Amino acid sequence: MDLKGRVREIDSRVQAACNRSNRKREDVEIIAVTKYVSLKTAKDAVEIGCKHIGENRWPDSEEKVNALSAKAQMHFIGHLQSKKVKHIVGRFPYVHSLDRMSLAEEIEKQAILKDRYMNCLIQVNVSGEESKYGISPDELFKFAENLLQFKHINVIGLMTMAPFEEDPEKTRPVFRELRKLRDYLNEKQIFDHKISHLSMGMSNDFEIAIEEGATFIRLGSKLVGKE
Ligand SMILES: *Cc1c(COP(=O)(O)O)cnc(C)c1O
Repeated sequence: MDLKGRVREIDSRVQAACNRSNRKREDVEIIAVTKYVSLKTAKDAVEIGCKHIGENRWPDSEEKVNALSAKAQMHFIGHLQSKKVKHIVGRFPYVHSLDRMSLAEEIEKQAILKDRYMNCLIQVNVSGEESKYGISPDELFKFAENLLQFKHINVIGLMTMAPFEEDPEKTRPVFRELRKLRDYLNEKQIFDHKISHLSMGMSNDFEIAIEEGATFIRLGSKLVGKE
């Protein structure tokens, strides 16, 4: 299947998952993760109508950011080293991988220098796998409170990566837990606004993630492919 065909197929699966869970289609945004493909394919994806583009490395993503930012929203979804933050702030309006205080401090510093506000999602290691980055659920509340001191960081939600499972149904508890954590933060009114976003679900498990409340799904291999 070509790119257009895959985009159409994924879209109908997203729609079906929304229907199953009584959700509105417009509440789920697809982030096309272009890290495995050429600039040309990434451009094609935007031409076809992908409005959100995800990348996980700097400087590997530089030419895509330069070419695509006028037409798509750029999301930084990978582990972010503090020394790279100066390149990300001002280029990527969203960072999905805020996972430690030292990173928050650097984002704040660069955001002040560039006179920007950064939309951030807190990455949570729900599954507890050692190989995964993210704040542990036990520490999330305190971490979120500590972020209040950073006036240029706009926390908009939570992000997680589920373990890869042959049977995607097995990821459901991870997604459900992330939603509960978001609802808990809202209930406790940690932030002066409600946080609405849940960035969860990848090529293998996005339908389960939608059923559990995902607002951003991050799709690489199944959507734009691998080259
Ligand atoms: C690569 C990547 C994805 C997309 O992975 P696929 O399984 O190819 O859809 C999603 N999220 C993050 C953080 C990634 O690094």
